[in-house]
Amino acid sequence: SRQSRRARYEFENSADDADQGAASSSATAATGDSQKPPGAAGRNPLLEGVCRACIDINDVLAGRRKLQKTSTEQAKSTPECPLDQVSLGRKSWSVLHTLAAYYPDKPTARQSADMDAFLRSFSRLFPCPHCSEEFQANIAKSPPPVRDGRALNRWLCDQHNLVNERLGKPKFDCGKVLDRWRYGWPDGSCDY
Ligand SMILES: Cc1cc2nc3c(=O)[nH]c(=O)nc-3n(C[C@H](O)[C@H](O)[C@H](O)COP(=O)(O)OP(=O)(O)OC[C@H]3O[C@@H](n4cnc5c(N)ncnc54)[C@H](O)[C@@H]3O)c2cc1C
Repeated sequence: SRQSRRARYEFENSADDADQGAASSSATAATGDSQKPPGAAGRNPLLEGVCRACIDINDVLAGRRKLQKTSTEQAKSTPECPLDQVSLGRKSWSVLHTLAAYYPDKPTARQSADMDAFLRSFSRLFPCPHCSEEFQANIAKSPPPVRDGRALNRWLCDQHNLVNERLGKPKFDCGKVLDRWRYGWPDGSCDY
């Protein structure tokens, strides 16, 4: 269940941490989720503690597979085309937020260096010139806080909100960023 997965995440991220209590209460504040008891009964015991980004939902839902078209069949009916700015943006944010959501609270020096290099390279290589320029300028103004996973999630959410604002889209509630990109919504709508 979502709660078990979140509890396991909290555990993994605080196992080596002498400040475990403080870390988990600040996590609670950061995510806006005040009740995360570990060990809640899962809807599907086979999925306890699964890493959602590590599995193919089609494997999990194997029983329903026969009802789905294979990717080859889908490719025949829907042409696979290059991405436009909107699709590229949506997919890119998905990757960026997912990387941040699974990034440790207390990364190693190597992980921090990799994340920093990744974000800076990404901002230079992103093949939408004005988006790339804007992202580079924002990184120069406000460097990604790569030594702190929670701060990194907040930073990325703020970066995305800057773009949302520019495009006249509503701001996203950054207190819900881990529900959106890691745990699923509290109402269970993302559970399987
Ligand atoms: C680095 C970058 C810069 C970009 N710059 C521009 C630009 O300058 N001009 C332009 O036209 N397009 C830009 N784009 C693309 C643009 O941001 C959108 O991706 C695109 O318009 C598609 O928007 P969408 O409505 O599908 O949702 P998206 O904005 O792509 O969001 C996808 C999903 O992310 C979630 N979400 C929304 N906001 C947040 C947030 N703040 N934090 C966490 N999750 C959130 C929502 O669930 C949403 O459905 C940029 C994309 C990237 C990755």
